[in-house]
Amino acid sequence: MRNLTINGERLWASLMELARIGATAKGGVCRLAASDLDGEARRLFIRWCEEAGCTVSVDRIGNIFARRPGRNPDLPSVMTGSHLDTQPTGGRFDGAYGVMAGLELVRTLNDLGYETEAPVEIVAWTNEEGSRFSPAMVGSGAFTGVFELDAALATRDNTAPALTLGGELERIGFAGPAPVGARTVAAYFEAHIEQGPILEAAGLPIGIVTGAQGQRWYEITVTGQEAHAGPTPMPRRRDALVGAARMIDAVNKIGHANAPYACATVGFVEVSPNSRNTIPGRVFLTVDFRHPEDAVLTAMDQELRAACAIAAATQNLEVDVKEFWYFPPTPFAPDLVGKVREAAAVQGLPHQDIISGAGHDAVYMARVAPTAMIFVPCVGGISHNEIEDAKPDDLTAGGNVLLNAVLDTADAVSGSGS
Ligand SMILES: [Zn+2]
Repeated sequence: MRNLTINGERLWASLMELARIGATAKGGVCRLAASDLDGEARRLFIRWCEEAGCTVSVDRIGNIFARRPGRNPDLPSVMTGSHLDTQPTGGRFDGAYGVMAGLELVRTLNDLGYETEAPVEIVAWTNEEGSRFSPAMVGSGAFTGVFELDAALATRDNTAPALTLGGELERIGFAGPAPVGARTVAAYFEAHIEQGPILEAAGLPIGIVTGAQGQRWYEITVTGQEAHAGPTPMPRRRDALVGAARMIDAVNKIGHANAPYACATVGFVEVSPNSRNTIPGRVFLTVDFRHPEDAVLTAMDQELRAACAIAAATQNLEVDVKEFWYFPPTPFAPDLVGKVREAAAVQGLPHQDIISGAGHDAVYMARVAPTAMIFVPCVGGISHNEIEDAKPDDLTAGGNVLLNAVLDTADAVSGSGS
């Protein structure tokens, strides 16, 4: 494997210039999917790609592909990128880093006069965040066949339901002519900030992402009986909130019992009637379970159902545990993960294996192409926050690993007839 390096200062300068589009007073970025600002960021990215000699195409759901041809332009491409949209109180690096690292990779190849065997493509996926339009990762999801295109385009703005994703993409000029999903991809790499505290705590610049956690999401409805808080004696109560509180505690215990990889969260609770002198008759809550191993997720599922049944029975309640979403654990391609590890070793960069706790476009891409990810630390492990920050040296390290892993892959692609 080669040991080439990107221009870290140029990468940082591009990230900072991009971060001006939608910059917030607190130093973050608000650039919601298919907004005017998203359009502005997309146009800047395209201008940079064209200046770097890439051919740019935009598909019907607004995914942008910038292609640098290889010696054999008929080979499937090695693709790398991420997303340009942000959370409402987002940071400068989530998504933007992966796209700018791809651009910096191409600029470096131009500087070196390096011709890869297969084409290299930079991608900016539409609406990864899922904040303005839910669900998340819709551009890569449509590309990989997870979402049906028309349904994805018909998704409505969460706060202005008259607006659809498709309509807004048209309005900002990014309902492109290219058919969705019609590109062959030999391999997909995505560089991203970790969005968690592990690498920073370990003092490591590089995380070798071996896969993404599986997820099980639930909606739980606990039903008791509303009654007056004064005249109803304790033994006669059917207090849905007391039952729900025990369930919430059980969720937390299940998470701890399956440490260190399990995550277990109740993030939404609705109490009805939510009146201070009425015993709660109904509680609705959500559960988010994550773990890299399916067998553990299945065990956590059984523990949750058992705990809810016991909590309901002891409080004389009814409980309905509905699985709302299931996302299987996604192991990344071992040979590509190996290339990322080798690139870090060649660069002399300390690294460790890590599992992605968040969803990424790479998780959908793993369904159609060999995929790997590179994590770099972010300050305090904080993301989806305006204070999100990353160190230039770490971003450069990730860019160097990406460069050498992509080159090693792009020079080894073989297709029919070559
Ligand atoms: Zn992201």
